[in-house]
Amino acid sequence: MSTKHSVAAGRFLKGDRAVWHDETLWMVRAKRDAMSHSLPEWEQLRDAAAAIKNYSNSHLADLLEEFERNATAAGVHVHWASDAEEFCATVADILEAHGAKHLVKSKSMLAEECGLTPYLEARGIEAAETDLGERILQLMHQRPSHIVLPAIHLRKEEIGDLFRREGMHVDPGNNDQTYLTHAARRDWRHKFLEADAAMTGCNFAVAETGECVVCTNEGNAEMGTSQPKLQITAFGLEKVVPDRRSLGVFTRLLARSATGQPVTTYTAHYRKPRPGGELHFIIVDNGRTDILASPDHVKMLNCLRCGACMNTCPVYRRSGGHSYTYFIPGPVGINLGMLKDPARYSDNVSACSLCHSCQDVCPAKIDLAEQIYKWRQVLDGYGVASAAKKHLSQALEWVIDHPHLFGAAVRNAHLVNSLPHWLMYNRLNEWGKEHDMMHFPHESFSEMWKRGKVMPARTNKENDGEKD
Ligand code: SF4
Repeated sequence: MSTKHSVAAGRFLKGDRAVWHDETLWMVRAKRDAMSHSLPEWEQLRDAAAAIKNYSNSHLADLLEEFERNATAAGVHVHWASDAEEFCATVADILEAHGAKHLVKSKSMLAEECGLTPYLEARGIEAAETDLGERILQLMHQRPSHIVLPAIHLRKEEIGDLFRREGMHVDPGNNDQTYLTHAARRDWRHKFLEADAAMTGCNFAVAETGECVVCTNEGNAEMGTSQPKLQITAFGLEKVVPDRRSLGVFTRLLARSATGQPVTTYTAHYRKPRPGGELHFIIVDNGRTDILASPDHVKMLNCLRCGACMNTCPVYRRSGGHSYTYFIPGPVGINLGMLKDPARYSDNVSACSLCHSCQDVCPAKIDLAEQIYKWRQVLDGYGVASAAKKHLSQALEWVIDHPHLFGAAVRNAHLVNSLPHWLMYNRLNEWGKEHDMMHFPHESFSEMWKRGKVMPARTNKENDGEKD
């Protein structure tokens, strides 16, 4: 009954990262809580965000056309890409048409989703990440383990060692975070200066104005787009929001949910090309219209990519982002992976305790846990249900369907207490790997009930009286 996730999570738990990974992300969750409690209208904001997203999802074609009209009128080139291949080819065509060989990228999960960097590198175009965490991972040849804090799984010592290996003039043994950040800034500044083109992702595309809004904490999007004359901004089609009034709802929610800040340090609005420059917007589908057609999962298009569901998830915090087989981990990634390819990413579906904490914190009120529960119920239809779990469920169903058998099983459950240890804890019993078998009482609850041994529940008044 092991899954790829559970095996990788087992490895993560054996190392020394699990405790501080858990504690660090819980701290981020606590900051988010403090921020949300500081706004009396927090729940109204979440309701408004969900309502705006539901409206946008049901008016996508109109809003996207409005966005295109307004952006085009401002002198922006608007492109449409139906899938990852078309997206990558569009970016490469734009760069090649300008002879651009050095691209600076600010963090874009869409580029990660579509495999843009290897596509460009294969065509001789350098695509340098400019977000600090993303750049570290690019040098380490690793994928992000979190959508907002991509290098959260790394220790500062590992980053110091990397910088020394890369010849970044970092003193031996000095792994102070501020020192390393300054070293990275010094060393990578030339990438911004030498770039032929800049690319950014986009948090929100405003239909009313035809502008793309990009939120960062490092200012790397602004740094990247300030020097080269050629800019490309790409986004999944679900990023469109109707107007600036609705934009205000999302910018108030995003940073508070993501990192517990009142707002991101930088919020850039890209609306028209710079004088003498070119601005290209690429609107990407890549499976999003299929999600739109799925009533059970359409709410996944509400996602703001804030990462709050990861920070709160007890499984994510203790298993780390690289334990998941889809490039986006945590509750949001489980669902998006299943929507992308259920047979390939089904291993992640069991990485959920169904505690529902993710949907309690989600600023866009996505029913993440309920959707994961729905996926579990259809796994067999994709031929990926665990055979062992399936047979156990069928056997249990058969026993429950026969009350006499069920009663006999419950009455005799205490016999399990005296079974030899090796019979309970062996490689056939996955449960026994991490759990102690419970001690079964000699008398079942229903037997106790019949004999009047079970006390009726006490009222609150009685409990209060005892406290007094
Ligand atoms: S599903 Fe909700 S909580 Fe998770 S990343 Fe998306 S918006 Fe944030």
